[in-house]
Amino acid sequence: MKKLIFFLYLINLIYILKAQEIPVPVVVDTVKSGRFDIVLFTDRTWQYVDHDSIIKIVRAEDSVKARKYIIENKLYQPDSTTVFSENWDTVNIFAFGNIDYKRALDTVAIPVLRDTGKFFIPVPGYVQSKFGWRWGQMHNGIDLDLKTGDTVVASFDGVVRYAGWNTGGYGNLVIIRHYNGLETYYAHLSALKCKDNQPVRAGELIGLGGCTGRCYGPHVHYEVRFKDNPFDPEWLINFETKELAVDTLILSPEKFGHVKEICEAQYHAVISGDTLWGISRRYGVSIKYLCSLNGLTENSILNLGQKVRVR
Ligand SMILES: [Zn+2]
Repeated sequence: MKKLIFFLYLINLIYILKAQEIPVPVVVDTVKSGRFDIVLFTDRTWQYVDHDSIIKIVRAEDSVKARKYIIENKLYQPDSTTVFSENWDTVNIFAFGNIDYKRALDTVAIPVLRDTGKFFIPVPGYVQSKFGWRWGQMHNGIDLDLKTGDTVVASFDGVVRYAGWNTGGYGNLVIIRHYNGLETYYAHLSALKCKDNQPVRAGELIGLGGCTGRCYGPHVHYEVRFKDNPFDPEWLINFETKELAVDTLILSPEKFGHVKEICEAQYHAVISGDTLWGISRRYGVSIKYLCSLNGLTENSILNLGQKVRVR
């Protein structure tokens, strides 16, 4: 029965791919090998296809895309022995150096959970602030409401890569790397309840909520990053139902346009005598553009040292 479903799936897949005019080798046969299927193609190539992943992907939101990436062998499943050793850094918050658009030029399909893995919402509070640009700055995560002292838990199984104070605004910060290579960040904690290199399970206490660092009211700032590049946690998690949004996450270069924008953004630090008009002349951009980039109005007062985004 399973084999039949798989064949129907492949036939359907070929049909879909043909409809999209994507050249793809035609499947000749499949051989079952444990939880994997060895798929043989007309051009004498073959590949392992993880049966469970296919089923999960088919249920995922952008399943048509996901199927295409499976065939293109873009299922991202890092080796569990190297995922916690390669680019492993317990001192710096960015294990790969910093965000970099060049690390997002490939499309990858990332299975979100391991077989036995679970998901837990880090805190049950409502979303105070979403991912995206606000007042000229990129908000690289999502802010979840809590009271100081509330428990914050790991959202997936993994190993703590960083647990410490960050001077850059995160305050007390925990970073956990997961088996699929994704990392989650939990910031502004009032207390740390884990140490670096510590394995944690989904749902395990890692810290207490608070408002340390650059913060204007208790919340947890929660980020999800792939090789340092942040993306919207709402692609992964439905914070209203507190469930996973997808089984398999598709990350394509188009989805990292904001990373390119972050890398290319330029700022002007306001000095005495600066006006929006002066800044607009200096950088050759309109006042309207400056206002829209920075959430300002033409009458906004500029503060000394304020960073105004100009590109
Ligand atoms: Zn935040």
